[in-house]
Amino acid sequence: PSKGFVGLQDLDNLAKNSFPLCMRHLFFNLRHEHHLKFGGRQQLGLFLKGIGLKLEDALNFWRSEFTVKLIRRLYILNLPRWLVEVVQMTTEKFDKEYGYSIRHNFGKEGKRVDYTPYSCMKIITSTPGVGDHHGCPYRHFSQENLRSVLEDQQLSSRTVDAVMEKVRNRHYQLACATTFEAIHGCPSDGINHPNQYFEQSRRALQG
Ligand code: SF4
Repeated sequence: PSKGFVGLQDLDNLAKNSFPLCMRHLFFNLRHEHHLKFGGRQQLGLFLKGIGLKLEDALNFWRSEFTVKLIRRLYILNLPRWLVEVVQMTTEKFDKEYGYSIRHNFGKEGKRVDYTPYSCMKIITSTPGVGDHHGCPYRHFSQENLRSVLEDQQLSSRTVDAVMEKVRNRHYQLACATTFEAIHGCPSDGINHPNQYFEQSRRALQG
């Protein structure tokens, strides 16, 4: 875990520059969909705690996403118009249904255990179902999907091929380390934990 604290205003930049793929995927899905299922909330929530997000900020972060007002346009077949559906979770519903588990992860509820963020091995061996976004992209994405995510990160086609080769050989953490090295332009100490990826990235970027 980080020695420093991370504020809410830093999260988007950190996600873009220093989160490993597994956490970037969860973070930007949450920003986009304003929702994550349980497995994703646990994987991302504990990681964020590990990088130094404090409990109050964590509650504000999740609450602000989950209570966003969503406007869905429902197109009706054969009609030249659409209906608008407004979906919004109330703050009370959020606090009741989700606040508890966030405080629980910080050791403030139930058995009061200060839960630790998941390691790569735990994430790689998880079994995400339909609609889940947790897991390790190197392990759980289709080859096509992974390739396009890597290309979006501006990696050269040679690097992408090297990563895909490791994935085919089921060396998921080595694939992640190769991605890290290409993005940061420096060697990694090996990747065995998303929070360790983050720490290495901060060191590399801050010099
Ligand atoms: Fe995340 Fe580890 Fe997979 Fe990298 S190897 S994406 S840090 S779970």
